[in-house]
Amino acid sequence: MKKQFVYFVLIAACIASCGVSKNAADNKTVFADNIIVAHRGAWKKNNLPENSVASLKHAIELKYAGSEFDVRMTADDSLIVNHDPHYNKLPIEKTNYADLIAFKLSNGEKLPTLREYILTGVENNISTRLVCEIKPSEISKERGKTIAAKVVQLVHKLKAQHKVEYISFDYDILKKIIEIDPKASTQYLEGNKSPDQLKADGISGADYHFSVFKNRPEWIESAKKNNITLNAWTVNEAADMDWLLANGFDFITTDESELLFERIKISPTAAGWKLVWSDEFDYTGLPDSTKWTYEVGGHGWGNNEQQFYLEKSLENSYVKEGKLHIAALKKDFENLHYTSARLTTYEKFSLQYGKIEVLAKLPEGKGNWPAIWMLPESIRKKTEPWPLCGEIDIMEHVGKDPNMIHVSLHSQLYNHMHNTQITHFEKFPDVFNTFRLYAVEWTENSIKFYIDNNLFYEAYKGQDGKVTTNEGWPFDKPYFLILNLAIGGNWGGEVDDTIFPNVMQVDYVRFYQKTDLN
Ligand code: MG
Repeated sequence: MKKQFVYFVLIAACIASCGVSKNAADNKTVFADNIIVAHRGAWKKNNLPENSVASLKHAIELKYAGSEFDVRMTADDSLIVNHDPHYNKLPIEKTNYADLIAFKLSNGEKLPTLREYILTGVENNISTRLVCEIKPSEISKERGKTIAAKVVQLVHKLKAQHKVEYISFDYDILKKIIEIDPKASTQYLEGNKSPDQLKADGISGADYHFSVFKNRPEWIESAKKNNITLNAWTVNEAADMDWLLANGFDFITTDESELLFERIKISPTAAGWKLVWSDEFDYTGLPDSTKWTYEVGGHGWGNNEQQFYLEKSLENSYVKEGKLHIAALKKDFENLHYTSARLTTYEKFSLQYGKIEVLAKLPEGKGNWPAIWMLPESIRKKTEPWPLCGEIDIMEHVGKDPNMIHVSLHSQLYNHMHNTQITHFEKFPDVFNTFRLYAVEWTENSIKFYIDNNLFYEAYKGQDGKVTTNEGWPFDKPYFLILNLAIGGNWGGEVDDTIFPNVMQVDYVRFYQKTDLN
């Protein structure tokens, strides 16, 4: 803790001094690091018109990292700020400026010119980028490039080049901008170019609809490798924000900036965690075989469990509508009367220390026993037997005791066979109808269990005078994750045969580690 604080002070001191010297040297801005780009300004909460000067001013007041706006050109070559190609039913490109400004914005403001907008943006603003979207011309491709050239000239004339970043759906508009100003920051919006291509063409960022990145997650890594700025639009749902934050996006463009601000505060990345492995289940069919292995069998798994775990059985483990489903069925298989699935990341991904998050909705019903837990590689490699190897139970629930969430640690000396395991259980509401985030933060000396980002229980090395060697604290080796739905057995108990099919759903699994200070 002390070390972290010192580090923080050093970083803070560096940022402060760097900022001062930069300001003194070239009048550059020290941008806010909150990654929020207000889409068409910060308009929503105060019911301001989009793209109004008032919405830009509010984004600056709130010290957002960026405020986005849209530029178009009138018939008589005035650059104005408006999203749609029409303003009060008049086609902007075919109407003179004087005729357009006869109509006020809903807050009484005049339709802003780009000049007025930028002058506002450079005044009393040390933190907010002006994210300038140049709309393609509906008249001709050439006119679009002409607009781009005029915008860049104006930005330079107003000495605003350090605050302005250019975005466009038209690739040629961006290329035109770089031709005029090779130092200009440009981000492409259409989503149909790879980060490699952007890099080759001198474009500095990929600002794509978030679904593009969900469909092509490999572009995230590739952008980072190529030093291509990552931005996503227009992100208004908490779940999408969380995903982009987990993936370390540089910017998120949103209409819901207050919500994003809240999500940033609880994001693991804000606390210094780096995503190292994940499955978002954004596909259909069997679980991704590059990420998951099956544990198969019907021998009771040491607990007299009554299910047979099947491999690659589409009715027992499948991804649908963005969620992994683990389904237990009342179905005879070999000597048993229920089938189910037990998925692990063994030989795909293990980690020693880190943060593990599993967003899951538990199945209701007497006799079931869903679990989210970890075992070390050593037990599979047969270098250590259970319980000497250790076991980390992130979430266990048995249907006969609804809503009672159990978290536990097992070791050679402290385990459930002697009822000496380190454990905590407590009722948590609504686990059957709501996806809850079950998580652990695991360091050398402690394992903290969280539900929905709230601390549920903290276990630590040597607690209550417990032995700290491998026999008492074996949590110092690589562990893999297990997701399974058991039926019956020593803990699940008597089975109500009306509960089937019985399904645990998992929205995502994310593993994080700290690259420093861990
Ligand atoms: Mg826009």
